[in-house]
Amino acid sequence: MTATTATQTTPASLHAPVIGWFEQHARDLPWRRPEAGAWGVMVSEFMLQQTPVNRVLPVYEQWMARWPRPADLAADAPGEAVRAWGRLGYPRRALRLHGAAQAITERHGGDVPSEHGQLLALPGIGEYTAAAVASFAYGQRHAVLDTNVRRVFARAATGIQYPPNATTAAERKLARALLPEDDGRAAGWAAATMELGALVCTAKNEDCTRCPIADQCAWRLAGKPAHQGPPRRGQTYAGTDRQVRGRLLAVLRDAVTPVPQSALDAVWEEPVQRARALDGLVADGLVEPLANGRYRLPLT
Ligand code: SF4
Repeated sequence: MTATTATQTTPASLHAPVIGWFEQHARDLPWRRPEAGAWGVMVSEFMLQQTPVNRVLPVYEQWMARWPRPADLAADAPGEAVRAWGRLGYPRRALRLHGAAQAITERHGGDVPSEHGQLLALPGIGEYTAAAVASFAYGQRHAVLDTNVRRVFARAATGIQYPPNATTAAERKLARALLPEDDGRAAGWAAATMELGALVCTAKNEDCTRCPIADQCAWRLAGKPAHQGPPRRGQTYAGTDRQVRGRLLAVLRDAVTPVPQSALDAVWEEPVQRARALDGLVADGLVEPLANGRYRLPLT
């Protein structure tokens, strides 16, 4: 039998330092305050999935002031959600959040459900968001695997620099194995590992001197071997259809009445790409074409 050493990593040996670190260093974010409620947590999770905290903060505050309950958002047009989404990017998230608000209003009397299965059954809610809301809003025990958590687990437990490009079954199994048994502690662990990845164990600049589990981290103890997996996906934007879609949508967000084709043509020169981007926006339900050749954000 191997003797236990001070640096041997077990799930339990990671919990106390990471949760203790979080209690000292967690950022005071509005969706972490009690008054945010489950709806605030859900809104923040939709916004944060592909957008950094500093860009989310002002939009979140305006969103919650305007639509403090799911029923408030459900009663408004989906196009208003797209308009309020502003420049957060990936605006289909706004439509999905609006759809979720409608379903919460119709099926759950306007209260965000607490059961993981009911959350998962809402339109636009995937495994990650259901687990995050159940954990952060209701203190339940779920593996919450976002990019930051996956990176921390890859380094500290698996001993590699970066996780695979897409979440694997092995990562889910590891995340479940690392979860504390107790519900509340598991929820704290989920929030703490996410924050550790966001603030200390970042993609480009891991700061091991500030890390509460540096003495247990498999990757650091192995001498930080270089990444050997497939190349990591870049986030190019300039010149992509995403950029064109963003420009077209900005015209419609700023307009109070339907806009003519010429107003859209003015924001992107290349006609084939522009048409493709506009077709995509219409197909996604983000833009509504009218019979008179004008366009607007969707009313229904
Ligand atoms: S020791 Fe360094 S690499 Fe390991 S988890 Fe901490 S910050 Fe990340």
